[in-house]
Amino acid sequence: MGCLMFKSSKLKKLQAENIKRKILMIGLDGAGKTSILYRLKLNEFLQTSATIGLNVETINHKQLELLVFDVGGGARSLWSYYFDNLDAIIFVVDSTDTKRLPIVREELLRITELLKDHNYVILLYLNKQDCKEKLEITQLIKEVGVPEVDHPVDIIVQKCSALTGEGLLDGLDKMADYLLKHKSNFNGSESNDKKEK
Ligand code: GDP
Repeated sequence: MGCLMFKSSKLKKLQAENIKRKILMIGLDGAGKTSILYRLKLNEFLQTSATIGLNVETINHKQLELLVFDVGGGARSLWSYYFDNLDAIIFVVDSTDTKRLPIVREELLRITELLKDHNYVILLYLNKQDCKEKLEITQLIKEVGVPEVDHPVDIIVQKCSALTGEGLLDGLDKMADYLLKHKSNFNGSESNDKKEK
C-alpha cells in the first residue's frame, strides 16, 4: 500500500513536469507542414512560403514539451540528419495531391526502414481536408499504404486542415497520450527515466 502511494505521488509529480520530446515534421513540399506548425503554435492560419531550411518551434501540449523540427520537403535526403533521439514523426500528406501519393508511399517506406531500430511513433496528418478535391480517407490510406518493415511501427492516422484547424489537436492529443504512455521506452526519455528511479 505504502509502495502504491509512493508510486502514485511520483507519477503525479512526473505528470506535473514538462517532459521534452523531439518531433520531426516532414512531408513533401507544399503538404502544409509550416501551416500546421503555426496553426498549432499560434492558432492562426498564416500564408506561408516554401520552407527552404528549417523551422523549429516548441509547443507545449499535455505535459509534453514538443520540440518540433519542420524540415523542408524539397530536401528529403536531409530528413535523416534529424533522426537522432527522435520520439515521433509527424508526416504531413496533402490529401488533394493524388499524383504524388506514390512518392509519399516511397518516402514513408524509406524512413521506416531507416528507423527500424528506433522506438518512435508516426502521426500521419492527412491535411487539406477542407478542399473539395481531396481524396477519401479510405482511398488515401490505401494509396499511402502502411509501411511493411520487419520492425512494426505504430501509426496514428488523423485527417485535418491547417486552414480550419480541424483535427490538428485531436491528432496531437493521440500522439501525446501515446508518448506519455510509452515514455519509459522512448529515446529522448533517459533523463526523465532517471528521475523516475
Ligand atoms: P510546406 O511546404 O509543407 O511547409 O507547406 P505550406 O505550409 O507552406 O503550405 C503550402 C500551401 O498549401 C500554402 O499555400 C498553404 O496556404 C496551403 N495550405 C496548407 N495547409 C492547408 C489546408 O489545410 N487547406 C488549404 N486549403 N490550404 C492549405
